[in-house]
Amino acid sequence: MRVAGLIAKIRLPRSLAARAVLFTVTVLSATALLSAATMLIGAQRESRHHQLEVAHDLTAHYAVTAGNMLASGRTRPLIAMTENAVTRDDVLGAMVVDAEGAAIAHSGGAEARALMRQVAAAVARDGEMKYLRGRGGDIAVGARVLRNGEAAGTAVLMWRRGAYRFDPLAALTPFMLFVGCLLIAIIPLTALIVRRTMAPLDTLARFAEGVGKGDEGKTLNLRTGDEFEVLANAFNRMIARLDSSMRRIQEVSFVDPVTQLPNQERFVRELKLLIHQPGDEQAAIAVFELKGLPRILQTLEPGTARDLLRVVAERFSNALRSAAGGRAAVAARLSATEFAALAPGYASPAEAARFAQSLNENLNRPFEWRGHRLAPAAACGVVVAPRDATDAEMALRRARMALQAAQIAPTQVKVFTPALDREAVARLALERDMRAALERNEFRAYFQPKIDMASGRIGACEALARWVRPDSTIVSPARFIPVAEESGLIEQLSEAIMREACWKGAAWARAGAPVKIAVNVSALEFRSDRFAENVLRVLQSSGLPPHLLELEITESMAMEDIDRALRQIEPLRAIGVRLAIDDFGCGHSSLAALSKLPFDVIKIDRQFVRALEIGDPQAPAIVDMIIALARTLNLEIVAEGIERREEAEFLAGRGCQWAQGFLYGAAAPAAEFADKLRRQNPVGGARPIAAA
Ligand code: C2E
Ligand code: MG
Ligand code: MG
Repeated sequence: MRVAGLIAKIRLPRSLAARAVLFTVTVLSATALLSAATMLIGAQRESRHHQLEVAHDLTAHYAVTAGNMLASGRTRPLIAMTENAVTRDDVLGAMVVDAEGAAIAHSGGAEARALMRQVAAAVARDGEMKYLRGRGGDIAVGARVLRNGEAAGTAVLMWRRGAYRFDPLAALTPFMLFVGCLLIAIIPLTALIVRRTMAPLDTLARFAEGVGKGDEGKTLNLRTGDEFEVLANAFNRMIARLDSSMRRIQEVSFVDPVTQLPNQERFVRELKLLIHQPGDEQAAIAVFELKGLPRILQTLEPGTARDLLRVVAERFSNALRSAAGGRAAVAARLSATEFAALAPGYASPAEAARFAQSLNENLNRPFEWRGHRLAPAAACGVVVAPRDATDAEMALRRARMALQAAQIAPTQVKVFTPALDREAVARLALERDMRAALERNEFRAYFQPKIDMASGRIGACEALARWVRPDSTIVSPARFIPVAEESGLIEQLSEAIMREACWKGAAWARAGAPVKIAVNVSALEFRSDRFAENVLRVLQSSGLPPHLLELEITESMAMEDIDRALRQIEPLRAIGVRLAIDDFGCGHSSLAALSKLPFDVIKIDRQFVRALEIGDPQAPAIVDMIIALARTLNLEIVAEGIERREEAEFLAGRGCQWAQGFLYGAAAPAAEFADKLRRQNPVGGARPIAAA
């Protein structure tokens, strides 16, 4: 396990060639080491064998000499020879014993003699040559002594351990040196060959790595004539195909397919180049929203719509060219109805504003197209970068922020300023606070009475949202409704107001004071597919009779998509819910649209009542016209914002049925309004506001 772990930890070089070299060198070295070890072990064994053989031969010769000496009765020389034997380095002892085992001659130490005796006994017992190894590896070899062919005893020689052994290491050293030199020569040679063989693979790998890092447009030139060349050619073909696909993708992803103008990605790239270029050149970045376009496009076939977009794009590009006055400007289409322009050379917000203004006017100019007169209704937000935006995303975001402000500005053009940014930050903070306030149920419905001019009695009311903060301060809808619409919180908010209004209305009806309750509907809410369903649910749960509920929608909401508006309203109309057009006269409603939608009520906008007050000479005529229109369409009329009795009298005199305004009371909390209702009941004492 440990070895496996260690092996796993070994880091091999990344290059294949280096690995091949490493492998070859390892195999060669291992083979050389293994053969050297095998040879050494073999030589060792051979050396032991050789020692035994020599020791046997010399001992046998000693036994023969001893036998001859005994036969000739020369005992003394035998003793001398035996004693002299130990003078040799390799002999530790010598001994001759007779047939009974008694020593005739001997030399050597006690330990040697003891071993020699054991050998002598073994030889006498078995009648043949014997040997025994001593503790240190020394050998005692014994042979029979024959005198005249008859066994006369035993001769034993004790040999030192290393005697007659050859040193295998010394013997093998020249050979091993030769092998070592061979290895030293072979290893670099092998490495060189392996490297050369693998070199094309290395080239391929480096090339692939380069392609991966974005080295486009290069080709690989390998002329090896083998599989590597085939692989390289395949690689080249693949890269070429990849290159052309990339070019196509870039084309598609940087150009708007309909207008052929640069798209948002490309525009952002251009912005980046401009903002990060050295020097301090400033540029105007303008974003245009063509608000009129969706309505026009909706009525056209897809092909025709594309033609129109191309015409608009061309007009835009031409306008930009003339506005930029020879500067290298870029026109782009950012989204369906959003165009953008980037023009260098505008250093101040005032210059940028003039540039944007002239472009916007140009765009707004109505034009004839296939027999139609079209007006794109453009608004524009512009920012000077890098002065007011230090990167591309920020520039686009700030231009869009200015565009948002431009939508409600009279000129429809707005330049980004840090104040606008602060406003946006404040809006974000407000949005955050609103979310928390919604959770805490701080949005309440306040009720403003609507007076029936004939009877002078409160016959209806409008529920208006109020944000009642914990410190009892009241935030007006003018401040939070736009933020709620922008953030999408409006649905939740409107539902809360609608719920409260319906529950309160139902309670007053049950208490014998039924009043019509008007509830404002926001554009976002009205666009939701769940709109009718939500209203029906609230009606059901509250128990408010549907004919007491009146929904106020604005002209622009009604005009946005009449058929859709009709579909939204129908299920509610079917059960008796009433529909009012709010702030009438402010928008651009067409008579046809007004007659197409099933309105019950027209609310004359406060501005006309105000015009009456300030003595605008045309005001009475306009009010007359609206009232006449309402009569023709058989609609009820409510005048909003009546603050003075004269206005009320004038309007009543012209046939206006309902009056709403501070003259009769501002929007009040439900309890206060209920009090008012209670006070005017029972019917009888009420004084008509003005005679019709
Ligand atoms: P609106 O629906 O046209 O409401 C009438 C506005 O005129 C109310 O302003 C009301 O307080 C104000 N007003 C009434 N009589 C007079 C008067 O004699 N003089 C003057 N100067 N003003 C008068 P408020 O409550 O600030 O609401 C403003 C707008 O906010 C509303 O205009 C409506 O469009 C929107 N809004 C209010 N509540 C809601 C709501 O619950 N949902 C939605 N979607 N919008 C709401
Ligand atoms: Mg209203
Ligand atoms: Mg209104």
